[in-house]
Amino acid sequence: MSLSFWQQRRRAQALAYDVVIVGGGIVGCSTAYWLQRHNPSLNVALVEAEALGSGASGRNAGFILQGTAADYLSDVERYGERTARRLWRFTRTSRDLMEAELRGHAFGWTSDGSLTVAGDEEEDERLRASVGRLRAAGAPVVYLEPEQTNQRLHSTGLYGGLFVTTGAVVNPLKLVHHLAAKSTADVHTHLPVKGIRWDYDDGVLLETPDQSLWSRRVVLAVGSALPSLVPALSSVVRPVRAQMLATAPAETQAIPVPVYSHRGGFYIRQEEEGHVLVGGGRHAHRRAEETDVDATTPAVQATIERYLHTHFPWTQDLPIQRRWSGTMGFSPDGRPVVGPVPGQPDSIFATGFTGHGMGYGFRMGRLLAQRITGARRPDGYELFSVSRLDEETGCPNASPRPSSSNR
Ligand SMILES: Cc1cc2nc3c(=O)[nH]c(=O)nc-3n(C[C@H](O)[C@H](O)[C@H](O)COP(=O)(O)OP(=O)(O)OC[C@H]3O[C@@H](n4cnc5c(N)ncnc54)[C@H](O)[C@@H]3O)c2cc1C
Repeated sequence: MSLSFWQQRRRAQALAYDVVIVGGGIVGCSTAYWLQRHNPSLNVALVEAEALGSGASGRNAGFILQGTAADYLSDVERYGERTARRLWRFTRTSRDLMEAELRGHAFGWTSDGSLTVAGDEEEDERLRASVGRLRAAGAPVVYLEPEQTNQRLHSTGLYGGLFVTTGAVVNPLKLVHHLAAKSTADVHTHLPVKGIRWDYDDGVLLETPDQSLWSRRVVLAVGSALPSLVPALSSVVRPVRAQMLATAPAETQAIPVPVYSHRGGFYIRQEEEGHVLVGGGRHAHRRAEETDVDATTPAVQATIERYLHTHFPWTQDLPIQRRWSGTMGFSPDGRPVVGPVPGQPDSIFATGFTGHGMGYGFRMGRLLAQRITGARRPDGYELFSVSRLDEETGCPNASPRPSSSNR
């Protein structure tokens, strides 16, 4: 395309970069981190519409769990043993890299294990039955009987649980800031990308209200907002709301590890100052939570409180200090989706982390950094490649089935 005098002037005024990353969540910030780690001479920009971590990455529970949001047997049934295993290992590597690469004390890294707990007998059986398979996949996992589980958590009415020694928690907002600070990217916050002009002067022009940015290569890590920038990708991700609350600090530390329960329908942790953070309940209000409206609702909050007070009765007198919500991007088959922007082989996107982006994010950033700097199929790419989905419907090509996770 030829450029007029005026267009050329606009292009000249645009900030030019080797790579522009759009989205300052865990995925965008991890990509920025790995780009500088592998290629410090690259001139990288990280562009975020609001503040870093203003989306799901700064609003979540901070669980760094392995596997997907569903239980391992469900993953095996859905994706086959080989893929389930590879997904588990990908997230395990993500966790291990985080521990090895970063200074955990900067973002509250604590890895005392995690518990996936059953909410009924059937789930208990499934968890128990998955132990052998998980171990074969390399998962350091122990089954705890219901009594042991409730004793350990000072809870009541929960069933058995899987204790995974590699489970961890972080302060997710601090993590995102840490990653951005460790990268050498120019971080532009409060700069929403309003339009993208592909094929502009041999590159891509990203238009914001204040400033244009130009680059040959773009990484879109905007979570569920992807279709607003690339409508052709509207079938690969949909917004789903999640809600949480935090109590006033309890005097004792009673929940020693992060707990994921009722098929991921609830999750609870006790933060170091004693606050109990709990979320979920979406499965009881599924239709209402298929939205990108950032607001809590009395119905979901009541479901969360009921869970909290039923299973952790010692929290009943703790005032609720904060309630919040966040928007997650769900993919059609529960797995993240990565691929080239349609018609733009030099630009890529990653979305659809389906309630589990903290588990995938750091390793995914490495994959995206490798891909945008020339690797065609970095390790793990085919696990998440958009090519598995039907172009029009977004359904998996082989076995279309809706996401079964409760989170
Ligand atoms: C309440 C809650 C609890 C959760 N708990 C957990 C958990 O414990 N463990 C776990 O693994 N996962 C959890 N998740 C899911 C996890 O938070 C997400 O999977 C993950 O944060 C997704 O990261 P992301 O970088 O893809 O997206 P986001 O964090 O949503 O980041 C995308 C960013 O892009 C920006 N953006 C969007 N459009 C534009 C634009 N046009 N221009 C510039 N910037 C733009 C947004 O402002 C946003 O900051 C939870 C989610 C919620 C909401």
